[in-house]
Amino acid sequence: MQNISSPREQAILSALKNAEDILCKCGSSVFSQGSKLKKLSRILTGEPEDAIVPIPVVYCIKCNTILEKGGIDNNDSSSLITS
Ligand SMILES: [Zn+2]
Repeated sequence: MQNISSPREQAILSALKNAEDILCKCGSSVFSQGSKLKKLSRILTGEPEDAIVPIPVVYCIKCNTILEKGGIDNNDSSSLITS
């Protein structure tokens, strides 16, 4: 059960070649990836200590503006939050 190169992913990859670039409001199209750290209260998680959850974000390398939703989607973090 692995979906690393599913047909859907292949289609997305080939579509990406023709996709339009996302531009920052400053006009730059070059972004870098970083992480925001979210602190989850131990009251919420039930753990003995507060949890720190890294949220991947993409930011413009020119003006450091963080690209919010609608840009590059990295869904890796959603699996961290399970209730
Ligand atoms: Zn920018």
